[in-house]
Amino acid sequence: MLNKIEHIGIAVKNENSATAIFNALFNQQPYKKEVVVSENVNTVFYQIGDSKIELLAASSSDSAIAKFIDKRGEGIHHIAFAVDDINTEIKRLKESGFEFISEEPKQGADNKLICFLHPKSSNGVLIELCQERYSGGFGV
Ligand code: ZN
Repeated sequence: MLNKIEHIGIAVKNENSATAIFNALFNQQPYKKEVVVSENVNTVFYQIGDSKIELLAASSSDSAIAKFIDKRGEGIHHIAFAVDDINTEIKRLKESGFEFISEEPKQGADNKLICFLHPKSSNGVLIELCQERYSGGFGV
């Protein structure tokens, strides 16, 4: 099952100017900045209560974020839901007819295993499933 909204991803053109805006909005600094090399994306994370906001800026022009902004402009890019077992949820959703952008979960930012549903099967909303990756032991 989907446990909660883990984060909302926001596509931004300029990481520095967007960070200044969201620092002022949230009255706090991001707790993490992370480059996701495989996706050509720079990410900036804020903790807001139980949820997070993830700013996404393209690090190259062939990044999916650059293409998204070209097509639709800046704004909300995806909604991410926390799951306990991403493979079980992928199987369940596939059996319910949902399509996925990639077949297998992959390493995402913020120490997560992630997978994206194709927005054409969810009313135009890009949905990310994410499962916390444990660094070893039992949930350490
Ligand atoms: Zn995300």
